[in-house]
Amino acid sequence: MSENLNPFSIAQAQLDEAAAVLQLDPQMHAFLREPMREFHFTIPIKMDDGQTKTFRGYRVQYNDARGPAKGGIRFHPDETIDTVRALAAWMTWKTAVADIPLGGGKGGVICNPRELSQGELERLSRGYMRNITRYVGLTQDVPAPDVNTNPQVMAWMLDEYESIMGHREPGVITGKPLALGGSAGRTPATALGGLFAIREAAKNLNLSLENATCAIQGYGNVGSFAHKLGSNQFGLKVVAVSDEFGAIYNENGLDPKAVSQHLRRNGKLKDCPNTENLTNAELLELEVDILIPAAIENQLTSQNADRIKTKIVAELANGPTTPEADNILNDKGTYIIPDFLCNAGGVIVSYFEMVQNSYQFYWDESMVHERLDKKITTAFNAVHRMSQKQSVDTRVAAYLVAVDRVAEAVRLRGWV
Ligand code: GLU
Repeated sequence: MSENLNPFSIAQAQLDEAAAVLQLDPQMHAFLREPMREFHFTIPIKMDDGQTKTFRGYRVQYNDARGPAKGGIRFHPDETIDTVRALAAWMTWKTAVADIPLGGGKGGVICNPRELSQGELERLSRGYMRNITRYVGLTQDVPAPDVNTNPQVMAWMLDEYESIMGHREPGVITGKPLALGGSAGRTPATALGGLFAIREAAKNLNLSLENATCAIQGYGNVGSFAHKLGSNQFGLKVVAVSDEFGAIYNENGLDPKAVSQHLRRNGKLKDCPNTENLTNAELLELEVDILIPAAIENQLTSQNADRIKTKIVAELANGPTTPEADNILNDKGTYIIPDFLCNAGGVIVSYFEMVQNSYQFYWDESMVHERLDKKITTAFNAVHRMSQKQSVDTRVAAYLVAVDRVAEAVRLRGWV
């Protein structure tokens, strides 16, 4: 039988495994398996050539028992409602494991932003927000950036929301530019949080990070910052990085400055001077201490998991490992830092951004990152301890911590 790659069935299967260990009440389990609310809509956009093109958009509020729904918006040609549902479920577990007072949500638009002009992208961003304006807000649901969306997209969405509502409410969306109430240190936060988690995992494995070899798949916001900060602040030797067109490799390490300069000039990583071209599949199978999938879901599967030769898989992407690959890697003794723990740095600093917006009082970057370190380290230790106490792998352990917290809030509210 071929492997199930539907992200939402994977997310439900992961929950089912944790529910069995937790002996979760079946009625609670049934409630937590489904999103609480979904919005499906069309976004007609006037394209530059005068034609109207209709895009499909989604926003899923998976669970808001612990606080307003929270999660990013992706612009992706392969987006599906099931991907958005899975990502919204993972946001629910992410905010819970990080212990911030928020629920989980996610949004998506089926589109290829590479094919859109700046004007079309702006109209699409505003059109998306117009559709969800009445369902989002500081106390309801707070979107943020994700794959192919960025601070400029957040700025357009904020402006659309505030223009319709007739008041300023910067906390309605996070990952904003600094000039519109963004938080210092938000852009590198996901990568930095992951590196703090890697530091903690390495301590447990007695692995020194100085010159530890590392391969990173994906060179968007998260992958590129993981390269830069991993090399400059944590002493990692990043030997391979990739984008959607392929990977580059140098056994002596890749200089982040030279790589980003090459990328700026050429639009892709391939053919970077002093490096060897590899495929994305080859990057994943390199013999390195730390492998960081930082792209999209379903990258480590039953097809390649037995050839993965790394001590730590740090999942900066959402959903990069399928359940079958999980079993293979766990059997081999690979230490997996599961996605909704490893990449929680982004939403943690988004939460700090909301707090700063509410108080209209802003912190400097060192304060933001110090608080991020504390939150991620606490979450990491809770998961690590749970995995030892219950003799379960780290992903199940992360679910045990998170599901227990969400279930408690649901119970206290009297919903189940
Ligand atoms: N999109 C990021 C994530 O998947 C950040 C979400 C947020 O800041 O709300 O965690």
